[in-house]
Amino acid sequence: MKRPIIISGPCSAETEEQTLITCTKLAETQKVDILRAGIWKPRTSPESFEGVGELGLIWLENAKRITGLPVAVEVANAEHAHKALLHGVDYVWIGARTTVNPFNVKEIAYVLKGTGVKVLIKNPINPDLSLWIGAIERIAHTRGIENIWLVHRGFSAYGYSEYRNVPLWHLVFDIRCQFPGLKIICDPSHICGNRKNLLKVSQIAADLNYDGLMIESHIHPDTAWSDANQQITPAELNTLLASLKWRNAKSSSSIFSYSLNSIRSEIDQIDSDLFELLSRRMKLAEEIGRIKLTGNVSIYQEQRWNSVVERIISRAKRLNISEAFIHAVLDAIHSESISRQNEIMNRT
Ligand code: PEP
Ligand code: MN
Repeated sequence: MKRPIIISGPCSAETEEQTLITCTKLAETQKVDILRAGIWKPRTSPESFEGVGELGLIWLENAKRITGLPVAVEVANAEHAHKALLHGVDYVWIGARTTVNPFNVKEIAYVLKGTGVKVLIKNPINPDLSLWIGAIERIAHTRGIENIWLVHRGFSAYGYSEYRNVPLWHLVFDIRCQFPGLKIICDPSHICGNRKNLLKVSQIAADLNYDGLMIESHIHPDTAWSDANQQITPAELNTLLASLKWRNAKSSSSIFSYSLNSIRSEIDQIDSDLFELLSRRMKLAEEIGRIKLTGNVSIYQEQRWNSVVERIISRAKRLNISEAFIHAVLDAIHSESISRQNEIMNRT
């Protein structure tokens, strides 16, 4: 079975005792590969705890010496990166608030080049992939930084969500396709913002073939100075990791390949049929556009569209397809159909 990379440690290093006990207990699980702790904390409110600063790096040096494990900290500017280097930090991560800032990303890259320190780039807070890509390219184009990993920590969303930061797995899938050589780590702690969903989100990451997890842990999570709701004890982390099922990227079994390939060829045929039909449907929409143009009638016909949606929704149960999926597909079809009619009716 695949051996994932596990990064864990407190959201923030608070005291030497808390840092060392948490790190030692994590090392004892023998499931953690890299220790993490925030030293400079980018917080929304200036009233919140903003980290212990350089002092925490000395505690982490001790944790590294005692456990033999490499350590990771967040850096947000050149000075942080310099100090991290001075204290033998092995990995740095660029936080979600820093990824969006080209000046900070560039100055960090400049300090780290040629040092061998590995750089983890978290996704930006907002779901705009170009911001993440910009940061990745700035780091990757800096000669002398070889090891870059990506960290998926979810995206902020307006309104209610069961997540603190919605995962938007499909967006991250696009990034993984663009940078297939980079490892991708999931950070369920910042996605969930609570403890109860950590296992569920971690299992999704395992099922999607992520390379590892970054999970916050603390000896006394309830009294943590930052992100208390989402941290778990090292013992809880041990249990969580023991119940996760990691999947293999591939299988060499011939029965497996045969069953998969025969279903895949059926799916390929269905996809071709689906798009032949969609193409026919769009040609008919264009016909309708020409008729509406002749009659000088508006493209959008609310009643007609409602009846199209209702007709298909009434079959949802029998088709065993969720109403949400039907809405999503019909919305995509409708918007393409409207834009085709628009082209015809407003041709100059
Ligand atoms: C963190 O890892 O503690 C952190 C602040 O992360 P993010 O940048 O994802 O908010
Ligand atoms: Mn945190």
